[in-house]
Amino acid sequence: MTNLNWGELPFGYLKTDYNIRCYYKDGKWGELEVSSSEFLNLHISATALHYGQQAFEGMKAYRGKDGKIRLFRWEENFKRMERSAHGILMQPITKELFKEAITKAVLLNERFVPPYGTGASLYLRPLLIGSGPQVGVKPADEYLFMVFATPVGPYFKEGFSPVKIAVVRDSDRAAPLGTGSIKVGGNYASSLKGVQKAHDEGYGAPMYLDSVHKKYIDEIGAANFFGIKDSTYITPKSPSILPSITNMSIMQLAEDIGLNVERRPIDIEELDSFEEVGACGTAAIISPIGEIYDIDEDKKYLFCKDGKAGPISTKIYEKLVAIQYGDEPDTHNWVEIIK
Ligand SMILES: *Cc1c(COP(=O)(O)O)cnc(C)c1O
Repeated sequence: MTNLNWGELPFGYLKTDYNIRCYYKDGKWGELEVSSSEFLNLHISATALHYGQQAFEGMKAYRGKDGKIRLFRWEENFKRMERSAHGILMQPITKELFKEAITKAVLLNERFVPPYGTGASLYLRPLLIGSGPQVGVKPADEYLFMVFATPVGPYFKEGFSPVKIAVVRDSDRAAPLGTGSIKVGGNYASSLKGVQKAHDEGYGAPMYLDSVHKKYIDEIGAANFFGIKDSTYITPKSPSILPSITNMSIMQLAEDIGLNVERRPIDIEELDSFEEVGACGTAAIISPIGEIYDIDEDKKYLFCKDGKAGPISTKIYEKLVAIQYGDEPDTHNWVEIIK
């Protein structure tokens, strides 16, 4: 195994040994190719570059106490990428090639799968792009699917601690009938201004409201939102939210520990009544939220008044991470051991 300071790794790119590529050409997918180059040879008129034909996924491989390597709900990532592809008229990758590519990306870079107990994991980035040339606005005839792997440290270096969020109203990440519900790079481009505004105000990430009424909570940066009150886990229902696999899993775990689960529009003013709030996604799993500042209304919603994450968020977080690393029984069949 490589000798890295696993616990201190950022959530960033670190070169590994190999990445996997597969090309769609003449109406069919070719064989998987293994590459040790970090670069692509891409046509200057590829639709990914000009018209945003691009979708990606984010998932992690975890090494357990038993030394085995686990994938978490990879089929959900596959299904979402297939939906993303259909959403912007790209050729989806097949399930078999997806599985083979992510497995290869882990096994060929096995020396970068962090040891158990460091809180680190191997992040996988499947990517699908229109690689064929077009100048008129139409879908490409050729596609490239690839997967790279990079080790990432634990999101919270100093333990599970609350973050601060700013409500941003002067830019939108997505529109109700736009591409907010699929995982495409264009949504990230339109979120950058909001991210920067939150940072400029001294906050960790932006909260986006629905772009029609500017009233209901949509997402927190690139993570889903949830709130907890009266033994109920509540997460927004909105056509412009990206359905998070982490959130889907948390809803199940919330039910398992006896909470009610609701998916419905959440008016921002309802924040006053929540006992705990947080954001969730693959990178941090759960980010407990300590403060939400509504810049335009000059109003602060405060949580975790003792500086610590709430008990229910903590319990669900620990349970989910324990399943991912194989410390707790995988009662929902979410984990697949690949080696
Ligand atoms: C990827 C993503 C999430 C988190 O989804 P997970 O499957 O939990 O990683 C949430 N919101 C947006 C906008 C995303 O792109």
